Amino acid sequence: MHWYNTSNLPSKNYICGHCNNDISSNKGYYLANSHNSGMSGNGYVYVCHKCNKPTYISGSLQVPGATYGKKYDEQIFNGDKLLFQLYEEARNNMKVMSFTSVGLCCRKLLMHIAVNCGAEENLKFIDYINYLDKNNYIPKNAKMWVDIIRDKGNEANHEIMLLDQEDAKKLLTFIEILISLIYDMPYIAKNI
Ligand SMILES: [Zn+2]
Repeated sequence: MHWYNTSNLPSKNYICGHCNNDISSNKGYYLANSHNSGMSGNGYVYVCHKCNKPTYISGSLQVPGATYGKKYDEQIFNGDKLLFQLYEEARNNMKVMSFTSVGLCCRKLLMHIAVNCGAEENLKFIDYINYLDKNNYIPKNAKMWVDIIRDKGNEANHEIMLLDQEDAKKLLTFIEILISLIYDMPYIAKNI
């Protein structure tokens, strides 16, 4: 199967939000003022040569965006399917630029991970961060992250604090590091 009547576009490197491959494409469609006016440069639809799916790109805007954060195998989560699903939801929210939703997922993930690590239930968010910190789940060189997470994730539930892309990336990066240390590394060690 192919897309027909595609044009040669300026070559573009991007991470395809459908298949997550880092690709370079020069095939697709362009936005123009009229049939013969040529490319306006204001928007393109690139077709991924790996999965054949289209991505709209205009300046820094890419829709669907790239999924952010490392893809972990479900097996590393010790059968905690909900944890896996919520992490995937956070990554997918990046793709559709729902940055505040990324933050809410990350907040919930942090609390869930802390309880998995032995924290009591029904604590405040900040207490879960402190628990992970005091019990050395957050390594020495990552301590500076504790303040970032306290700052970006410690919104009271009734407040609205919209997160931007950078905030969302920071929260998701922190979760990725925690998952690597708490779930992935023990899993790898056990299976070497
Ligand atoms: Zn693709």
